[in-house]
Parts: sequence; structure tokens; C-alpha cells
Amino acid sequence: MTSSDLVDSVRRAVGAVTDPELRRPLAELDMVRDIAVDDGAARVAIVLTIIGCPAATRIESDVRQAAASVPGVRSVDVAVGVMTPDERRALTDRLRGGRAARAMPFGPDSLTRVIAVTSGKGGVGKSTVTANLAVALARRGITVGLIDADVHGYSIPALMGLTRGGDVPTPTRIDDLMLPPVAHDVKVISIGMFLRRAGEAPTGAVAWRGPMLHRTIQQFLTDVYFGDLDVLLLDMPPGTGDIAISVGQLLPNADVLVVTTPQSAASDVAVRSGLVARQTGQRIIGVVENMAAMTLPDGTPLELFGSGGGSEVAAALSTDDEPVEVLASIPLSATLREGGDAGEPVVLAHPDDPAAVAIDRLAGALAATRRGLAGRSLPFTPR
Ligand code: ADP
Repeated sequence: MTSSDLVDSVRRAVGAVTDPELRRPLAELDMVRDIAVDDGAARVAIVLTIIGCPAATRIESDVRQAAASVPGVRSVDVAVGVMTPDERRALTDRLRGGRAARAMPFGPDSLTRVIAVTSGKGGVGKSTVTANLAVALARRGITVGLIDADVHGYSIPALMGLTRGGDVPTPTRIDDLMLPPVAHDVKVISIGMFLRRAGEAPTGAVAWRGPMLHRTIQQFLTDVYFGDLDVLLLDMPPGTGDIAISVGQLLPNADVLVVTTPQSAASDVAVRSGLVARQTGQRIIGVVENMAAMTLPDGTPLELFGSGGGSEVAAALSTDDEPVEVLASIPLSATLREGGDAGEPVVLAHPDDPAAVAIDRLAGALAATRRGLAGRSLPFTPR
């Protein structure tokens, strides 16, 4: 092999290394600089987006390993530099895929299916279901993003195992583009990531009002680098408050899943939250009944929260044009709850658990129905 062939081979190997945050090969990100090989000694220069990039150590060692794997290379020296502001701007432009900064990537023309998961009241398991659904979809090879829009009760970082060690991770920034942390192959962004800093006590409850909340959700949609997503899930706050209305305005083409318990008392409020979503033009794609009967070891069913709430909500939300069905009934499960507490989603940790099976089936049903403009209710009445 000539020395220029060897340099090319090293360049190919290093270029194929993936940036763990951006999830693209370094060559595509224009991060590989000079490469020289002298008598088997390779010198590789790469540039990262920012100084102190959290992924730096990992990238450096992956690059070293990739270069060392090329036959003929005996030693590797990696020099790590930082992009110039111009190079960084070129990169963020490319990552935005030609869209202007602050433009909405999930508008009506987007190929990403947006699913907002809502409930009438808190504590029905909406966040637990959403986190597990995201992971179950990702496990099927679907590219998934997850926005924790439950500003006052954010729990997604913990459910996804992003808070082990105590701190919620702070997303890396490349200029005004934020890189969402990835957990179980899901890109996650949460208001919780902006409230705590390492070593500081949590700042506690979010006391923001409408306009601030609206801006936060808007920023999550426009300034977070999700890349090309098949599905974007939103964990909505319960009820019909400011965020529900903001999301309705920002994402009028979103699909809505309503989570309720089997208890009748829970269903009225669940119906109301579905109706608010529909008013903004969003489409209710189904009801998920959570905390349904579990089967005790002796085979008898335990209906802790009664039964029938899911079908009551579905019936109340159904119209002649838009029938709404119960898409899943997820039983009570201590394993599901423990997985949530430990940040190990049950669909991964215990896929045979009945709750995990029900959630995975829901993921399968959603994956099978593609988003399409046909059949979508229009936000106006045609004459
Ligand atoms: P929400 O987002 O609706 O407020 P959470 O997802 O935070 O609700 O769930 C509330 C509590 O109920 C959590 O402790 C969670 O672990 C538990 N939980 C949720 N679904 C189930 C279930 N099917 N079986 C047992 N516990 C559940």
C-alpha cells in the first residue's frame, strides 16, 4: 500500500466514526482535518464543535481505535481542535437541513409524525406510558424524539434513566442549536434540563405563566436538533391549560393520545382534554387505558380502579367522522412502576411483563399506521 493509500484508508476509518451526540459520521460533519502516516505512525487531527464538548473523550478514543484498526498503522496520535465560529455556523446550517434558524421543523409538510400524549388529570401514568412508548418504538427501529412538555411536573428525565448520579444532564449547545441527550435510543429534551445545574439544589417548581411557557415549548420545537425523526412524542401536562393551547397552535397537525384510568371519575376530565386538542385541529387517534385490572397469582383479576373508563372516554370523544377507539389497556404492574423509579423502562428491562407487552403492542399499532394527510380533519369547514 502506498503512503497516500494508507492516508486515505485512515481518513475513511476516522470519517466513519459517529459523533455520539449528533449521531452522524465525523466526515459528514466536516470534523476531520489533516491526516499523515509516517512509517506506520498516524497523526490524525479532528475538530470538535465546542471546547469541553462532553463527548470529546469518547470521540477521541473512537478515532484512535478506528485509525489503529487500519492495517499498516502501528501507532496513532490524535490532535483535537475546535471549530472556528464560521465552521460552526456552516455545521449548524447543515444540521438544520437548510431551514432558517428558529423555523418550525414539524409543520404540516414534515414527514415526522407528532403524537401528543395527554390526560385529564395527573397521576394516571401518562409520563410512564409515554416514556415506555418512546423506548418501545425506538426498539422497533423507529427514530424517536421525546419532548417533556409537562413543565410543572416533568418526570421524563428520571423515567428515561437520565438522572442517575443525581443531576439532570444539561444539553450541549452549538451556538443556538441544542443537542438533546439520548437515552435508550430516544432523543430527549425536558424543561427539567434547564432548571438544575451540577451541584446546585433543584430550583423546584416552575412558576412560569403562559407567554414564558409558550416560548419554552416553541424553543423545544425549533432550537433542538432532533434530526430526521419518524415520530416525535410530547408528554403533555395534564388538563387543558396554557401548554395544551400553545401546543395546539404550534402543532395543529399533531395526533393526540388520551391516557385515562378505568375509573369513571377520571374520564370526564380526560374527555375535556381531548376536546381542547380537537378544537385546535389536532386529531385524536385513540385512548390508552392505564392501571387496568391486573391478574393476581391465583388467576383472579384485581380491578383497583374499576373498569370501563377507557371505553367511556373513547365513546365520548367519538364523532361520526372520527371514531375513537381504546388502543391499549395497560394493567397495573409493580414492575412497570419499579422500572420508572429506577430509570429502566419496563419494555426493555422486563419485556415479558404484561404492562410491557401491552405498551409494546401499542407501539406496534402506532408504527403500522403511518401519518398521512388523507382522512385528517381540516381546521376549517370547507364550503
Ligand atoms: P402522570 O404522568 O399521569 O402524572 P406518572 O407516569 O407520573 O403519571 O405515574 C404516576 C405513578 O403511577 C408513578 O409512580 C408510576 O410509576 C405509577 N404507574 C403508572 N402506571 C402504572 C401501572 N400501570 N401500574 C402501576 N403503577 C403505575
